[in-house]
Amino acid sequence: MRGMNDLLWRRALEGLEQPKKTPVLRVLEADARYIPVSTRRMVNVRDEGRCTHTDAGGSRCPNRENLDLSAIVPFSAGGRARAANLRLSCSEHR
Ligand SMILES: [Zn+2]
Repeated sequence: MRGMNDLLWRRALEGLEQPKKTPVLRVLEADARYIPVSTRRMVNVRDEGRCTHTDAGGSRCPNRENLDLSAIVPFSAGGRARAANLRLSCSEHR
């Protein structure tokens, strides 16, 4: 009887464990979100140092302050840290 309980406990605890990530997978995940300085510069030049948000009337946001890079396809959805997937956006349009 005691042996059976131990087995059940062990199975329950195994179910709670997080799957282990290999070092290679961890590096790849970190790399997917890392934006190289050269890519940052490229996006900044392409987007003319201005927020890329365009309103329904076709007017582009004039904001040039508090800009940050945002992913068009989110990193969590498989988007990559490439210029094609990044755009400048102000704090209002992130
Ligand atoms: Zn904006």
